[in-house]
Amino acid sequence: MHDALLTGVLAHYHWQLSIMAGAAIMAFTLVGKRLAIMIVPAFARASRINQAAFREKMAKAYYAKNHAWNRKWAVLYLAVIFGLILPFCITVEAQAWWQVIRDIVVILMFYDFFYYLTHRFLFHDSALLGGPLLSIHAVHHRQHNPCRMDSSYIHPVEVAIGLGLYIASILVLSLLMGPFHIVTIVVTWIAFMEINLHNHDLWDADHFPFGYLNTMSRMHHNHHASFNGGNFATISLLYDWLFGTLDYGQGERGGKNVANDGAPAPEAAP
Ligand SMILES: [Zn+2]
Ligand SMILES: [Zn+2]
Repeated sequence: MHDALLTGVLAHYHWQLSIMAGAAIMAFTLVGKRLAIMIVPAFARASRINQAAFREKMAKAYYAKNHAWNRKWAVLYLAVIFGLILPFCITVEAQAWWQVIRDIVVILMFYDFFYYLTHRFLFHDSALLGGPLLSIHAVHHRQHNPCRMDSSYIHPVEVAIGLGLYIASILVLSLLMGPFHIVTIVVTWIAFMEINLHNHDLWDADHFPFGYLNTMSRMHHNHHASFNGGNFATISLLYDWLFGTLDYGQGERGGKNVANDGAPAPEAAP
């Protein structure tokens, strides 16, 4: 009985595909970043500005300590995701191209809905769990004018919640829709990471075709400028638009001007 159960579980455990997905994510991210910087001047400029800001911030001990802390925890989180969860959600069986595109959109928007609720009601407006989770999320909000790498200036518990929501979305959807193609997993993971990083980018190109990238970065900077503002979703602004929490930096939600004042982060250890 136990043997049959174990055999059944192992039949769906595709660890080789999970490792291949991890390697493809790393390779495409590295190559894509190099190419983007080489070919597109706006990306090259953003890279210079954000690296300079990051170097300046890393000179502060409390800031460097948070990044070192997160790198350590990330190893454990990624081992759990790629070793124990993703192997059950992935396939290389042929799928139609439209199915891959549909699945990418469904995963990202499903995750973004639950991230919106978590961010708005547990990290910010919470009456129920507001105590511990507000102070945990406040670590990320110490950066009033974030740069790209501030997407990972976060309390490790918040990283676990964010990554947990993301991988739980994939797991739940794979149970409902069937395992996702490896291409779907790789593209959604890269999109999830890159959108999060870009939202924190110091970015100043607003001419065509960079209008959308400029808006996404500006709106998340509005979010960092005030703990009482809006813009809670991360993948797109759809749910903020739907639920009336868009924050253009004039304090629509906070009732005060929340334009970034460039205030430095407090010199406290996380
Ligand atoms: Zn927040
Ligand atoms: Zn942020």
